[in-house]
Amino acid sequence: MTNTGSSPSRFDIVIVGGGPVGLSTAWHAAARRQRTLVLDRYGFFNEQAGSSGAERHWRLQYTQEDLFRLTMEALPMWRRLENLAERRLVHHIGSLWFGDIDVETNEGQIATTARIMDRLDVPYQWLTAKDIENRFGFTDLPSHYEGFLQPDGGTIDVRGTLAALYGLAQREGCVLSGGETALELLPDADGVTVRTDRETYRAGTVVLANGPGVNDLLAPLGATLDIRLYEMALVSLRRRAADVDFPFWFVFQQPTEEDTNLFYGFGRNPWSPSELVRLGPDFEVHPLGSAQGATGRPDPRHVDRLCSWVERHLPALDPEPAHTSSCLAVLPADPRRQFYLGLADGLVPGGRNIVLYNSGWGFKFVPLIGRICSDLAIDGRTDFDIARLAPTGPQEADR
Ligand SMILES: Cc1cc2nc3c(=O)[nH]c(=O)nc-3n(C[C@H](O)[C@H](O)[C@H](O)COP(=O)(O)OP(=O)(O)OC[C@H]3O[C@@H](n4cnc5c(N)ncnc54)[C@H](O)[C@@H]3O)c2cc1C
Repeated sequence: MTNTGSSPSRFDIVIVGGGPVGLSTAWHAAARRQRTLVLDRYGFFNEQAGSSGAERHWRLQYTQEDLFRLTMEALPMWRRLENLAERRLVHHIGSLWFGDIDVETNEGQIATTARIMDRLDVPYQWLTAKDIENRFGFTDLPSHYEGFLQPDGGTIDVRGTLAALYGLAQREGCVLSGGETALELLPDADGVTVRTDRETYRAGTVVLANGPGVNDLLAPLGATLDIRLYEMALVSLRRRAADVDFPFWFVFQQPTEEDTNLFYGFGRNPWSPSELVRLGPDFEVHPLGSAQGATGRPDPRHVDRLCSWVERHLPALDPEPAHTSSCLAVLPADPRRQFYLGLADGLVPGGRNIVLYNSGWGFKFVPLIGRICSDLAIDGRTDFDIARLAPTGPQEADR
C-alpha cells in the first residue's frame, strides 16, 4: 500500500497477520462490506510463521467439551468454504488416538475424550493394542495401550486453504498487503492508528492474528500474552510399499525426563499422493525467547527420537528421514487454556477496538475463528461461546 496523501488511509478493519486466521477474518469481514486491509510481514503463503508445511490434523474430538462443540460448529463452515472455493480442503481419513489412555497432554487425554464422545453421541471405535497392530501395522506396542478411531477426523490441506481464503478475500474487495510489517498500535476511544514500516493507517478496529509476533505489538501497550514459542520438527519418511496407508495417528505416552514423548503422523495426502508421509514429535520443550530465536532447522535430537520410535513401532515406514523442516508453534503457557480469542479490553487501554486470536492448535478452527473475529470487530460481540478464551490474565484461565 502506498498513500500519496498526508492523512492516514482509513479502513474499517486492519488485520495484522495474513496467515489462515487473518485471511479468514478478512473474507468474513469484507463479505459484510467492511473496508478491510490485511498486512503480512513475510508475505502471503510464507513458510516462516505458524502455518508452514502441507497438512494439519482435522479432528472433532477435544478433551474440553466447549472446544469439542466448537469443532462441530467449524465443520459446516469448512463445507461452505469448500463449496465457495470449489475444492475439497478437509479429507476424512480418520483420526486415531492411542497409547496410555490416562496420560494428560497438551493435545488432550484419551479416556476423558471418549466419555465426552459418548455424551455428545459422536461415533468412534475403541481399539486395543492388538487391534491397532493388526489393523494399521504398528508393532511392539505396550500391551496396556488402547485408543479410538474417530472416522470423521482426518487431514486439512493447508496450502489449498490459504489459496481459497486469499482468493475469497480478494474477491470480496480486501486490500492485501504482503511484505508490510505493523510496528506500532495506538488505540484510543474511537479506533486504532497502525504504524507500519511503510505507512500509517487509521482503523475502526484492529484484528491481531499475527501468531508468534503478538507480544511485539502488545508489550508497548503494557500487556503481554503468557505464551510459549516452540520450534517444532516436521519429518517426511518414505512408505516401504505403495499400498501402505494410515489414518492420522497420535500416540499418547508418559513424558520422559527430556521431552513430552508424544509423536504423530499423517497418511498419504489425498490431494497430492506421494511415497512420503509427514510425521512429527510433539515436544513442548525448550521454548524460544522470541520468534527471532528460531533457527529454521529442527532439533536433530527430536528428529532422532521420532525416527527411533518409528523404527521400533512402524515398520511400514523407512525411518531414514527423506526431508526435515521446522515450524513455529505458539501455545499458551497454561495448557488448559488452549487459545486466546476475544476483545482486548481489560488487557490494554483502548483494547475494545482490538480483537485478538493467538496460540494453540488452531488450524481446524480457521473458518470459525475468522467468523468470530469478524463478529467481534464489527459488532463487538459474537454468539459463539468463547468466554473461557478471553485474552485476560492467567487467573481467568483457571475457571
Ligand atoms: C508443527 C505444527 C503442527 C500443528 N498441527 C496442527 C494440527 O494438526 N491441527 C491444528 O488445528 N493446528 C495445528 N497447528 C497449529 C496451526 O498450524 C496454527 O494454529 C495456525 O496455522 C496459525 O495460523 P495463524 O493465522 O494464527 O498464524 P500464522 O500462520 O503464524 O500467521 C501469522 C502471520 O502474521 C504475520 N506477522 C507477524 N507479525 C507481523 C507484523 N508485526 N506485521 C505484519 N504481519 C505480521 C506473519 O508473517 C504470519 O504470516 C500446528 C502448528 C505447528 C507449528
